[in-house]
Amino acid sequence: MTATAPDTADAAAETAHFRFFELEVLRTRRLGRSFLRVTFGGASLADFRSGGFDQSLSLFLPPDGREHTVLPSTDEDTWFGAWRGMPDEDRPVMRSYTVRDQRRTPEGVDEVDIDFVLHGDASPASRWAGRAVTGRRILAIGPAVAENKSVRFQPPPAADAVWMYADETALPAAAAILERLAEGIPVRAWFEVPHEDDRLPLQTAADADITWIVRRSDGRDRTDRVLGALRSADVPAAAAPYVWLAGEAGTVRATRRHFVQEWSVDRRSVRFTGYWRLGASEEQLLAEAYAGQAPSEEPTSEL
Ligand SMILES: Cc1cc2nc3c(=O)[nH]c(=O)nc-3n(C[C@H](O)[C@H](O)[C@H](O)COP(=O)(O)OP(=O)(O)OC[C@H]3O[C@@H](n4cnc5c(N)ncnc54)[C@H](O)[C@@H]3O)c2cc1C
Repeated sequence: MTATAPDTADAAAETAHFRFFELEVLRTRRLGRSFLRVTFGGASLADFRSGGFDQSLSLFLPPDGREHTVLPSTDEDTWFGAWRGMPDEDRPVMRSYTVRDQRRTPEGVDEVDIDFVLHGDASPASRWAGRAVTGRRILAIGPAVAENKSVRFQPPPAADAVWMYADETALPAAAAILERLAEGIPVRAWFEVPHEDDRLPLQTAADADITWIVRRSDGRDRTDRVLGALRSADVPAAAAPYVWLAGEAGTVRATRRHFVQEWSVDRRSVRFTGYWRLGASEEQLLAEAYAGQAPSEEPTSEL
């Protein structure tokens, strides 16, 4: 699920699908200039059931100055009101992330990997990840069953190709999707990252043709750069492509418009999700969702 109000409320109601997990940092590993993998363990992970692909979860991170996350309630009926009612300085920060991998080690330890983009110390989740050390405990609402609505990648059986766009925040999801795709399925993907060494190794049995778009500080707008890459590409051959787009909300909207209007993709075959929005924290997106102004994901504005 994401941190939007409706999704969170739904998640609370869907007791069979989602529940709280206590995650303890086991280790961290730098994957590229922008990426830090945090591997979590914890006894409750024995009941964690990632659906794979772009499975997401909501993390609750401790406010500044606290080592561990504490919530007054993790009961599905009462946690949300209790969390919202906490004083600002005590309230854990809720953020959406992707389950990059889940495994049980040969020693029987349940582990979950989350790949954080480090985009600066001013933002709570990026700051928390950059300072994560072994033993820190946080809370998460995550999947208790593998088939859950926080797996958004749902190609119809008739799809004969997968086309993807992801920025760095959605690269963990894209990488997990690629790992799960059936052998030989044609994939055309555009992945946008800040630096050369953020072009992480990807594993797939699919027949994948990937274009990396490395942002450079030449002043060009990020959306223009992505659209430029799409426009300079040949339209891939497919009768029924399934399109999955995720990343910064404005760029995602623009790429959706490109696929639908310029490449004539049936809009019902496009799954698009704004993972973040330039200039807005997740609290601000949540507040907008409460006010019914603009959803923070799957923007429905006129394209
Ligand atoms: C379903 C879903 C799955 C996601 N999976 C991942 C994941 O696996 N890994 C991951 O790193 N992120 C992921 N994200 C995105 C992540 O939730 C946001 O980037 C989030 O805003 C980070 O929180 P923060 O506290 O660091 O920044 P916030 O406090 O939310 O934002 C502060 C400021 O930073 C800006 N900002 C936010 N993210 C970035 C960024 N990446 N680069 C530059 N500026 C930014 C905002 O526009 C805002 O101006 C996912 C989001 C969704 C909805």
